[in-house]
Amino acid sequence: MSGIYLHIPFCKKACHYCNFHFSTSMRYADDMVNAIRQEIRLRKQDAKSSVETIYFGGGTPSVLTPQQLRVLLSEIYNQFEVIGNPEITLEANPDDLSPEYILDIQKLGVNRLSIGVQSFLDDELTLMNRAHNASQALSSVEHAKKEFDNVSIDLLFGNPNTNLDDWKRNLDYALQLEVPHISSYALTLEPKTALERFVDKGVVSLLDENVVEAQFHHLVDTLTQAGYDHYELSSFGKPGYHSQNNTGYWQGKTYLGIGPSAHGFDGNQRYWNVSNNASYMQHITKGELPQTIEELSVVDVFNESIMIGLRASWGVSLQAMENELGLRYRQHLEDQAKRFVDEGLLHIENNALKTTRKGAFLADGISADLFLIDFLAASS
Ligand code: SF4
Repeated sequence: MSGIYLHIPFCKKACHYCNFHFSTSMRYADDMVNAIRQEIRLRKQDAKSSVETIYFGGGTPSVLTPQQLRVLLSEIYNQFEVIGNPEITLEANPDDLSPEYILDIQKLGVNRLSIGVQSFLDDELTLMNRAHNASQALSSVEHAKKEFDNVSIDLLFGNPNTNLDDWKRNLDYALQLEVPHISSYALTLEPKTALERFVDKGVVSLLDENVVEAQFHHLVDTLTQAGYDHYELSSFGKPGYHSQNNTGYWQGKTYLGIGPSAHGFDGNQRYWNVSNNASYMQHITKGELPQTIEELSVVDVFNESIMIGLRASWGVSLQAMENELGLRYRQHLEDQAKRFVDEGLLHIENNALKTTRKGAFLADGISADLFLIDFLAASS
């Protein structure tokens, strides 16, 4: 299977916490659509197999008109072999989802909507500098559900000035809406964001880590009790509604990344496009791919399998590690993981290393502790 990810680098407003690649000027939107279309053509030979998932991410893909989206989807169908019923996801912000827009994108073939709700509370949305308010968050999901069976919402926890009760209210709204998929992330302080400046100046204080952890555990308990599979650290889906596109990434499947700042993987190499709209368009116009390519070393494969596996419900397969990298890598991992197993943060189940309930919140930090810098140096 392979997937196609398209990065649409435009947003209406800069959210205070976000360091993704986007521009708030739509002036060159048509030129960008043409450039992305051209990149689809340039990458025609790169697809390893039929396309099973198409994902419009960003940025905010829903700032594009249905006509602009149609141009991109048509080009994908022209250049690649696409299976009969691919998962086609569009990330959308609540303020873009009018009933007409929802109908239009459904007619294009989009069959999964991922809505950037982030919060159902106005105070939080204002602090984040989101372009929508709480009432739009609710109504957009209600409208989307009338036309789309497969709807996901994003929710952000760990927001400044919040407590566990605020988070419970957010989750109550989410459960009342009965969406089949929820992605939920802890707010992180990213470099060069407005939030970082506010924190540095003392205008905003980050939430106490114990409250963030309590919010995470409440999230996991509430959603699993409500019948969602917690299949990846930040991903909760009803059976049959897991994101096929993202599961492909986590299971090491190949995908093409198209658009400025997009990443791709061909099974051996990763590449990423330049994160600059003007430079991206200049290169593409000349018929060049503005990409940096990295061949994955054994150490990269080891580290990635830990980073992804400890976030996934299926864990890090020790057998797969032994088969792909050799017994000494497996043994090294088991030796290094032992202290986390003893602390009750990791456990081994079905020959796979997984986080426990207690360890899940710390998955990324545990992964970093298990990373190899250089195996030869580490084992000498
Ligand atoms: S809408 Fe999404 S991509 Fe755009 S600034 Fe906000 S969080 Fe970042």
